[in-house]
Amino acid sequence: MRQKLLFSGLILTLLIGGFVSYLFFFKKQSFALDQLSKKENIVPIAIVGSGPAGLSAALYGARLGFYTVALEGPKPGGQLTETGYVENWPGVGRKKGPDIMKDQRTYVEEIGAVLIPETIVKTDLSSWPYKLITEDKQEITALSVIIATGSAPRVLDVPGERDYWGKGVTTCAVCDAPYYKNGEVVVVGGGDSAIEEASQLAPYAKKITILVRKDSLRASDIMKKRLQDLPNVHVLYHKEIKKIYGDNYRLEGVELYDNKTKSYSQFATDGVFLAIGQEPRTKMVKGQLGLNKLGYVEVEGRTQHASKPGVFAAGDVEDMHYRQAGVAAGSGIKAAIEATEFLQNIGWTPTVAKSMRARFYEQAKAGPSCVRELTSESDFERYVLRSKKPVVIDFYAKHCPSCMHMLPVYETVARKFCNDVHLFKVNTANVPKLEELLHVQRIPCFIVFKDGQQVARYHSIMNKIQMSEFVQQFIE
Ligand code: NDP
Repeated sequence: MRQKLLFSGLILTLLIGGFVSYLFFFKKQSFALDQLSKKENIVPIAIVGSGPAGLSAALYGARLGFYTVALEGPKPGGQLTETGYVENWPGVGRKKGPDIMKDQRTYVEEIGAVLIPETIVKTDLSSWPYKLITEDKQEITALSVIIATGSAPRVLDVPGERDYWGKGVTTCAVCDAPYYKNGEVVVVGGGDSAIEEASQLAPYAKKITILVRKDSLRASDIMKKRLQDLPNVHVLYHKEIKKIYGDNYRLEGVELYDNKTKSYSQFATDGVFLAIGQEPRTKMVKGQLGLNKLGYVEVEGRTQHASKPGVFAAGDVEDMHYRQAGVAAGSGIKAAIEATEFLQNIGWTPTVAKSMRARFYEQAKAGPSCVRELTSESDFERYVLRSKKPVVIDFYAKHCPSCMHMLPVYETVARKFCNDVHLFKVNTANVPKLEELLHVQRIPCFIVFKDGQQVARYHSIMNKIQMSEFVQQFIE
């Protein structure tokens, strides 16, 4: 009896303690709207990310009548833009991932959400209103925040991986498969992604070897079945890559360790496609929001509430279990509904919104672009080889998600350099001869010419600051 009483006392103390600290936090953390009187760049619902979770949140936020902005991030559309056919997106049949995201984007904008091609590099969630900092160092005043930054491909972290990144090591078969026509490549991993990558490569590469570190595939049965229809795909078990090597320019092979026979061997290959899972993108909220042991944002129970009032998380950044686009979309919807409830609770009404409309954050109006399209070899001779100023050329293709991400970054940065540099772009589908002439084997590819000579080449994604620094170095 005494024990029972003691236990009930303890529970009661905990409950009262919890309630008092809750009150204390809310008191300390004021959500009074008068704090916004001097603030600029206000966003009632700010979404960081634009994959299925971010765009679904944007759809609901806007449809419920709130000014909703999605900051699209480094990979607009998220991971689905790098997959082939998707067969499990509810409501549509078998459809290409990039097309699903394109349709979703168009519809979300039609409904009234604002999608801005900006990347948030820093957040300050220490006091309300919250601050989001863009890569241009603009400060956004966010009344509620939905973190939908997704996850990033895991890497092997072995010697040579960084050196040959973009020169043979990649995580995107949709983007790079056409460059391996008749080549021999390896795909690392035993999950659904590995089979998806192999299926993308199968129409191009002569031979594809999937390297699995265990004795079995983790992939679902339906994906395993797909392998049977791919005669040029083989699976090797118990294999781990220990090193990636080449001649500095081109990848030539990998050193393999067989963890069953405990032996090493060299395996010649033209490309290494990594499909070894994902890690949540939580760097910008680390130390500010509760994260679990594996780095995923913790949410409360069946809600999308993160550990700060008015901050929510949705999609792969908080979901280490399902990791499905459909689930991410659902969690984005929940997060948006919860964000609108939060705003209503702090007194945000259509009238208040109207009074602050002039101070809402909007995309800066862009001036005219000074990037011109090169459409022939004679253009190249005339405008590039004979140019007195440095010249930058961006080789792109519409089917390449990284290229389509880099184009607006390039156009924006280019405006700073219109007077000092000639800036061009080349659609590789329209001028394949130029691609051949300049030995462009991966896109996006930025090539710089000075006095008619090629002086630099860059393949990876850059943010605006990196792109600016890249161009600046060629100006005297
Ligand atoms: P998974 O986590 O399912 O699989 C990762 C694979 O990589 C595992 O075989 C794992 O091996 C292996 N791996 C991890 N680290 C290493 C390493 N350092 N070296 C070698 N191998 C390594 O990730 P996926 O990206 O494949 O899938 C993620 C989610 O997305 C899943 O839920 C999947 O169902 C879904 N998905 C669905 C698709 C579809 O339906 N079309 C397509 C793609 C993904 P081990 O098993 O030994 O841990």
